[in-house]
Amino acid sequence: MSTKHSKAAEKFLKNKAQAQWHNETLWMVREKRDKISKEVPEWEQLRHKSQDIKRYTNSHLAELLVQFEENATKNGAIVHWAKDDEEYREIVYKILKNHKVERFIKSKSMLSEECGLNPFLIEKGIDVVESDLGERILQFMDLPPSHIVLPAIHIKREQVGEVFEEKLGTEKGNSDPTYLTHAARKSLRDNFLHAQAAMTGCNFAVASTGDVVVCTNEGNADMGTSCPTLNIAALGLEKIVPNLESLGVFTRLLARSATGQPITTYTSHYRNPRQGGEYHIIIVDNGRSELLADADHVDLLNCLRCGACMNTCPVYRRSGGYSYTYFIPGPIGVNLSMAKDPRKYSDNVSACSLCLSCSQVCPSRIDLGEQIYKWRQKLDSVGKASKEKKVISGGLKFVIERPKLFNFALKCAPIVNVTPRFMKYNGLNDWGKGRELPEFAKESFNTMWKKNKIQGEVKR
Ligand code: SF4
Repeated sequence: MSTKHSKAAEKFLKNKAQAQWHNETLWMVREKRDKISKEVPEWEQLRHKSQDIKRYTNSHLAELLVQFEENATKNGAIVHWAKDDEEYREIVYKILKNHKVERFIKSKSMLSEECGLNPFLIEKGIDVVESDLGERILQFMDLPPSHIVLPAIHIKREQVGEVFEEKLGTEKGNSDPTYLTHAARKSLRDNFLHAQAAMTGCNFAVASTGDVVVCTNEGNADMGTSCPTLNIAALGLEKIVPNLESLGVFTRLLARSATGQPITTYTSHYRNPRQGGEYHIIIVDNGRSELLADADHVDLLNCLRCGACMNTCPVYRRSGGYSYTYFIPGPIGVNLSMAKDPRKYSDNVSACSLCLSCSQVCPSRIDLGEQIYKWRQKLDSVGKASKEKKVISGGLKFVIERPKLFNFALKCAPIVNVTPRFMKYNGLNDWGKGRELPEFAKESFNTMWKKNKIQGEVKR
């Protein structure tokens, strides 16, 4: 019955210090989000507004995307459409090949993770450098992000010190964050100056103006795009927002929800190509338009990728990003993975306590927890329901539907309290791993209620 998630979580939890620190750090981010959101009296109205705008956008996607394309083209950008990950990779490669690019610098983009861009380009002989500090650390370590906003949140500074010593020649044993950041900055400066092309992701694409809006705290997207005259931006088609007024709603919500800041340090609008250069914008579908037809899950397209659902999730905080089998972890990752391929990613739905805290913090009011519950209901229909759970549920149903049998079972239940431990805690009891079963009460509530009711009637 163990799922891939629970096995990976078990591994993560073996390092108790790391597990505790991971949990506490992310909870601290959640608390910062709570504090700053309470400073905005209209916070809940903003969340509603965000949901409304996203729902409007999803139902007018075709016209808004075309409007964006028209305006971006008027601004001088070249717009491409990619139906899937393969087309997206090929478009990027073709642009780079046409310009004989060998040195390529990127700012953080979960879309490029989704579509496996870096390994593809590296295999073609292009030197790809990630410029976001967390992403750069992970690139040196050959690891994927474990969080969508704080990609290297699971890595301790001592580990960073060791990696930088090996890759950048920093002092042995020096893990001072300022020293390490300066070392990364110095090395990246060289990459910024010599890159022949730069790529950014996109937080929002404004239909009415053709702007690509990129939010960073490090300014690395701006540094990367400052020297090369060939620039590329890529966006999932759900990143469209109708106009600058609606953009204001999202920028007020995004940084507050993500890191508890009033706004990201840099909110950059990219519109025109640089003088004498080219600006390419790639709009990627890769399964998103299929979600439009799924009434239960279409709201997943409302996601701003703020990471708040991860920071609040008790399972994510205690099991780490790598315990999930999809490149995006946490509540939004569980949902997106199931939307992508329910048979392949069904293990992730067990990574949820159904506390619904994610639904409460989501700035776009996505009912994440409720949707995970719906995916669980669908497991049987995709042939992924656990056989053991089906047998147990069938047995319980049989007993519960027969009151006499049910009451008899309740009477017998306290026997479990004195049953030898090896009979209760063994390979058949996954739940009991690391947990103690609660004691059965000597008397069931039903028996007590009947007894007290009769006594009460006699007293009267
Ligand atoms: S689902 Fe909501 S809370 Fe989670 S990352 Fe997306 S916008 Fe943020």
